[in-house]
Amino acid sequence: MKSTMMAFPLLAPSMLERAGKLFPRVEIMSSLPNGDRHRYTICDLLRRSRRLANALCDAGIRKGDRVGTLLWNGHEHLEAYFGIPAAGAVVHTLSVRQHPDELSYIMNQAEDRFLIVEDVLLDIWRQVNSRVKCERVFVVNRGSSLPEGTESYEEFLAQSVDNLVRSDIEEGDAAAICYTSGTTGRPKGVTYSHRALVLHSLASSMPDHFNISRHDVVLPVVPMYHVNAWGLPYSAILNGCKQVLPGRNLQPHNLLDLMQEERVTLVAGVPTIWIGILNALEKQPGRWNLSNKLRILIGGAAAPESMFRRFDKLGIHAIQAWGMTETSPVATVCSTKPGMETWPEEELYKLRARQGLPLPFVDLRAVGDEGSEVPWDGQTSGELQVRGPWISGSYFGNEQPDKWTEEGWFRTGDVVTIDSEGYVKITDRLKDLIKSGGEWISSVDLENALVGHAAVREAAVIAVPHPKWQERPLALVVLKENMTVEPGEVRSFLERTVAPWQVPDAFVFVPELPHTSTGKLLKGKLRQDYSQWKWDTEPSPVVS
Ligand code: ADP
Repeated sequence: MKSTMMAFPLLAPSMLERAGKLFPRVEIMSSLPNGDRHRYTICDLLRRSRRLANALCDAGIRKGDRVGTLLWNGHEHLEAYFGIPAAGAVVHTLSVRQHPDELSYIMNQAEDRFLIVEDVLLDIWRQVNSRVKCERVFVVNRGSSLPEGTESYEEFLAQSVDNLVRSDIEEGDAAAICYTSGTTGRPKGVTYSHRALVLHSLASSMPDHFNISRHDVVLPVVPMYHVNAWGLPYSAILNGCKQVLPGRNLQPHNLLDLMQEERVTLVAGVPTIWIGILNALEKQPGRWNLSNKLRILIGGAAAPESMFRRFDKLGIHAIQAWGMTETSPVATVCSTKPGMETWPEEELYKLRARQGLPLPFVDLRAVGDEGSEVPWDGQTSGELQVRGPWISGSYFGNEQPDKWTEEGWFRTGDVVTIDSEGYVKITDRLKDLIKSGGEWISSVDLENALVGHAAVREAAVIAVPHPKWQERPLALVVLKENMTVEPGEVRSFLERTVAPWQVPDAFVFVPELPHTSTGKLLKGKLRQDYSQWKWDTEPSPVVS
């Protein structure tokens, strides 16, 4: 029997239409490149994103066409997030840190017809201009002159109107497209439907997940050019929250000033960002007076236990989430179940450092080498596979059928255990695991243990070929400012918690580590840089 419910589509722009009516005076603050703070309201955002949508339609953008953005986190980017899909088109967020070769590859593959670019990022545009076929380029310029062949974004909006736009959009239509950051091969495009964005916004907002309400002030440090800044710009509008958009200055002091002065209550970023923030807070205790409702969302790479302990000492609640470009991105969030609050401290920290429980409608399982699901015992590891309404079912214009099982599960490439309560723990990415004498060593566990040392700022552990053991772990360590430590001391520190045969055979102290555009360790580059590494000590034997 058919239901009597309306077939009412779930559309991304509807979230802003409602917020514009119900929360018109709520503020959107953007940090401009010169440090000024631009302020306007959700009502202004609605008007301008409608103008953008109408201008795009008038300019000949058709349903499904891609419009690229090369922008930092700011209000114009938010206008593109809603305005481009309101025109029935697809907002293609381009990474400002991508290599020009990769950027032009992505823009050509996505066939971006128009581009919106910020004046401070025009150099990137100049490097790809001759290699891509954008018909029109709109520059968000703040006083500088427009390069030849480009147009003013403001003028494009000014000649348009702010009435409601198209009504023929379906919830299954693509609203946005984002490319994977390429840590696992060539970037691949993932298209997000309106329906996926809406459901993701609803589910990630729930109390046991990001717990977003209209009383929150949301600061996405995670770039809007990567996986929709974890969906926060959408979920903040869905809930009617004030947003604080940090622009290009992501230095810890600047972020902390913003958090203090704008009374931020929810802030999201990758662990690298938090390392800087924690160091600043610990170095100058009492300097920043942050909201007592502040929560920190950590994702994109594993958050070590020590990070939760350090935040707790400062009275700040940190929460870990896991996801991928292919999962819109939030698929698991770690929060406790009733009764767990009374667990011994050690156990509780172990739990909080896991990636957490799947969101509603996200199915997950871990599959072992033999192709069968591994038990939820917190011990047996397998590749994490997921499926659900905001999980990608294919890549855009790039057939990779082996990424999906016959039953439609997406193979994440992450190696996990799942405990009896359903909590997922990432032990590694398949390609980052270290195979020593037939046994697997988790690079993530070693990195997490290393950053627990008081002198260590950041660490990467990579597999380096070894004549006897096939591969052995090599640790690359960045020390905190003015700190020194002997390799022997780091080794003894690790031996307290790590099996002796898993302890890296060498520790190299380096001034910094390479990161992806989204702040993740570039393990591929490190493996390449150290591929000729010569082991000069006999590594520990494998204990069988
Ligand atoms: P890319 O796949 O190109 O690195 P993504 O941003 O899609 O770009 O990265 C997703 C990957 O990031 C996941 O597969 C996982 O390996 C890692 N990741 C994301 N969140 C976490 C987390 N909380 N803990 C550990 N790893 C994470």
